[in-house]
Amino acid sequence: MDITFTEDQERYRAGIRTWLAQNLPANWTEADHWPQVDEDAEQAFLIDWERRLYAAGYSGIAWPKAYGGQGLGPVEDYIVNEEIGLAEAPESLNTIGRELVAPILLSVGTEEQKLRYIPKILQMDDIWCQGFSEPNAGSDLAAIKTRAERRGDVWVANGQKIWTSYAHMANHCILLAKTDTGARAHRGMTLFIVPMDTPGIEVRGIRHLGGQRHFNEVFFTDVEIRDEMRIGEVNAGWQVAVGVLGFERATTRLYRQGRFMQELRSLHHEAQRSGKLTASLEERMGAVAAELQLLKYQNLKFLGRIMSGSQIGDESSLLKLSWSQIHQKIAHLGLEVLGADLDEDSAFAGRFRKIYLTARGETIYAGSSQIQRNIIAERVLGLPRPERKPA
Ligand SMILES: Cc1cc2nc3c(=O)[nH]c(=O)nc-3n(C[C@H](O)[C@H](O)[C@H](O)COP(=O)(O)OP(=O)(O)OC[C@H]3O[C@@H](n4cnc5c(N)ncnc54)[C@H](O)[C@@H]3O)c2cc1C
Repeated sequence: MDITFTEDQERYRAGIRTWLAQNLPANWTEADHWPQVDEDAEQAFLIDWERRLYAAGYSGIAWPKAYGGQGLGPVEDYIVNEEIGLAEAPESLNTIGRELVAPILLSVGTEEQKLRYIPKILQMDDIWCQGFSEPNAGSDLAAIKTRAERRGDVWVANGQKIWTSYAHMANHCILLAKTDTGARAHRGMTLFIVPMDTPGIEVRGIRHLGGQRHFNEVFFTDVEIRDEMRIGEVNAGWQVAVGVLGFERATTRLYRQGRFMQELRSLHHEAQRSGKLTASLEERMGAVAAELQLLKYQNLKFLGRIMSGSQIGDESSLLKLSWSQIHQKIAHLGLEVLGADLDEDSAFAGRFRKIYLTARGETIYAGSSQIQRNIIAERVLGLPRPERKPA
């Protein structure tokens, strides 16, 4: 594996690094705990930030120019992600649009869908949510009950979704619904694009343990969806969804490796400053730093595979499992360093409170750690599947 970047690529890196240094607000890291202060101000700031990132040419890096992208390659995409992580720049509000919807549309969307939706994701005119999970169907999406029935040129959807991140601010939803209730397990599901202002949609907020309104319940009652809003073939939604979830695990949060390294550095600095840096603590921090370095090499290995045109497939579960578990270790180290000061009103304490609380959900969404381990065991390592009793 060759991990040297060319001179042009290093120049490109210097460009985004300079841009970030000049454009990130000086108090950004402190502002990282804004959500506890003013959610509307945070949302407005993030939308503006992403628009500026796009205007500067640092968004949609590897997407075709025809759909508003920069038309560059996976290496430039990797570099931008890495620099965004190292600068601890804001995370996107539109992760569902960027990391799920656009890649799906690029792979199975119609030309009209690509032209209509992808540029608006980049311009932050459309914010998306993902309506997959239901009260009794999270890890096992085959069990979803939301139905879409065809009536002429429209589909009529009824059902309930839950844990729908950003639904309260999104204007579009990517909905997974049963379209053939007689079909077995994973067959008979279809994906749809649903504007959130369609009559019959009700969004009810859920606050997570950090106190923020992040996700929601979404109710669909006789919601009409035109057939042109269907993504991919009828009853092929599962195959598309699995592809998307694999992609989500492989490519999303690449920037996190750098971001987590910075979090660890600032913890080390704080432990030193406050006289709490024991040999044992430093050794455990070093072990996490080594895991982060391995994560970086795993990212680079997959980058090499993408560049040579091969698929990542189920191995992407290795990345999802690693970054989410490592982040919880950093969160625990944060608790140890802060101790009773965790309650303090300082920006540093606010930042690590937020990290600790959000890291809990990271081993659940986009496939829980248990599910990732099942995938790695059965589909990557080829270990025998446990016998499952018939339902
Ligand atoms: C912060 C956050 C944001 C989210 N955002 C969204 C969103 O935007 N859209 C959306 O559709 N969903 C979203 N989700 C939901 C998420 O995808 C589900 O919570 C997740 O898939 C788990 O499903 P569940 O909650 O129904 O738990 P269950 O599937 O009931 O799992 C419960 C426990 O059993 C374990 N388990 C389940 N099946 C197996 C198995 N076969 N083998 C071993 N262990 C198993 C799980 O690992 C878990 O520990 C979000 C979740 C969180 C925490």
